[in-house]
Amino acid sequence: FAEQPEFTAPTKQNPLLLSFNENPLGMSQKAKEAIARAALYGSRYPFQQVVQFKKDLAKFVGVTPDEVLLTHGSAEAIRATIEAYNLKNTVLVQPELTYGDGAMVAEHNGMPIKNVKMGPNWSVDLEALKKAAASEAKKHHVIVYLVNPNNPTSTIADCGFLIKWIKSQPKNTFFVLDEAYGEFVNDPSFKSGVELVKQGFDNLVVLKTFSKIFAMAGMRLGYAIGAVSVINKIRDHVAYEVMMNQSTLAAAMAEMNDKEFLAESKESNDKAREILYKALDELKIPYLPSQTNFVFIDLKAPLKPFFEHMKDENIMVGRPFPPALQWCRISLGTPAEMTYFVEKLKEFRKKGWI
Ligand code: PLP
Repeated sequence: FAEQPEFTAPTKQNPLLLSFNENPLGMSQKAKEAIARAALYGSRYPFQQVVQFKKDLAKFVGVTPDEVLLTHGSAEAIRATIEAYNLKNTVLVQPELTYGDGAMVAEHNGMPIKNVKMGPNWSVDLEALKKAAASEAKKHHVIVYLVNPNNPTSTIADCGFLIKWIKSQPKNTFFVLDEAYGEFVNDPSFKSGVELVKQGFDNLVVLKTFSKIFAMAGMRLGYAIGAVSVINKIRDHVAYEVMMNQSTLAAAMAEMNDKEFLAESKESNDKAREILYKALDELKIPYLPSQTNFVFIDLKAPLKPFFEHMKDENIMVGRPFPPALQWCRISLGTPAEMTYFVEKLKEFRKKGWI
């Protein structure tokens, strides 16, 4: 990435952002060039480009274009899915420590939320989740919102258990598998829900995004993968699928076909994670084993003072994630950024702040 500026210490105007799980490398050169080219046809509606992009995306995923729905970020996919499956009497069941969008949409729609306690080390307790969902499903419709790998914990669920559970097709139950971070996983036991869609199951949808490894958080593109009947149902709740942004489509097409960029992003993330792990081990700060582009660390103290000290150093770290109020989510920057960050951690230790 010749384009990447040399690392310079963060300033108030240009802080080090370790707070939103973005790709610190920025968009690939090819994506930037594709955006410049898209300006040439920015005056035209994107009908043709949407059709072509969906064909290519479906091929990339290994499904048919009818099994894919484009959305404005996966945020829109989460909202549209929950609203589409909000039948009379629906309850959202989720682990209590997870990404907040599912619960936020449920709340906006007056849908009760059943938060299920976590297992040891903030693991997703699938057994307990299954029990809670089964109990609710006796009287209600149930949406299970499961982020895998989970945010903010960075760990994966027991995929064997999960797949068996979905395959058993429990009555009145629909699964939303949010795989925003799936591309970062190293653990070979991870299985994407897309395999179940390919096998014809229509009791789930898998949500993905271009915001994370594809480095397009500001460009807004997500997608849902599901059976045709599922996708058609969710489509009724999105803005207008054939009206995506030309420059976003152009950039996404470039990123998707840029194997080198994706490999380099993953490699950079793996390196950055190792730098952080090494320092955390030295400082004896516990953390969860990360399968994502962030690490959840145990401060063993309230988050606020740590957050403020980092802010004073122009470093932004993760927000509070109740009930893990003594933990902090650190998004992984570039290896150079993580080297700087761990120096600060070591300084904090000397000052007795961690
Ligand atoms: N799902 C999860 C688990 C996330 O962590 C995020 C963003 O951080 C999103 C969805 C939303 O991402 P976007 O709307 O940018 O695709």
